[in-house]
Amino acid sequence: MRLLVVEDDPDLNRQLVTALSDAGYAVDTASDGEEGHFLGDSEPYDAVVLDLGLPKLDGISVLERWRENGKMMPVLILTARDRWSDKVQGFDAGADDYVAKPFHMEEVLARIRALLRRSAGHATNELTCGPVTLDTRSSRVSVNGNPVRLTSHEYRLLAYLMHHNGRVVSRTELVEHLYDQDFDRDSNTIEVFVGRLRKKLGIDVIQTVRGLGYMLSPPADAR
Ligand code: CA
Repeated sequence: MRLLVVEDDPDLNRQLVTALSDAGYAVDTASDGEEGHFLGDSEPYDAVVLDLGLPKLDGISVLERWRENGKMMPVLILTARDRWSDKVQGFDAGADDYVAKPFHMEEVLARIRALLRRSAGHATNELTCGPVTLDTRSSRVSVNGNPVRLTSHEYRLLAYLMHHNGRVVSRTELVEHLYDQDFDRDSNTIEVFVGRLRKKLGIDVIQTVRGLGYMLSPPADAR
């Protein structure tokens, strides 16, 4: 899952990027409204954390422009405490949720998890495919109840496929949603990660759909 953080306070920006990266997301960042608007308009993010008080272009205008342009990604706005009008304006502009400053990072992480799973059509944090279980709270993966240790890239790949279980995900889509802007994107690496994931999971839940991409499918005896 790939996220965008738009926050002009350098300390807060860094804290958000660190916490979200540690939680296993690919994270891009912008420190003013214009840059944030440009990134959100041109890159396919799974969710955005958007501060409202921003230089160059305020957060509400950024959000309104994205929505006018048909951008549907879930947006969590950061509002000042006691500014109920910010929240109303934010929701009316197309926000999906808010956190009031100052906030606990755990709350931001939980709200992002909720936005991501809801936008992918899941009701809980625990995603399953046959014997494979992925818990988005703890970032843990298990097969038949036995924990499997994955690297952050392997986890990201599996988490994306699990969120989008039931449809074919193309290699291009994976590249766009697993790596941040600065990552050296070579779509061949996706195949390498899929190979490693298959080996670590020990069962074949990742199907290659020739010419199209990958799709999760539980092994025949677990269906
Ligand atoms: Ca601000």
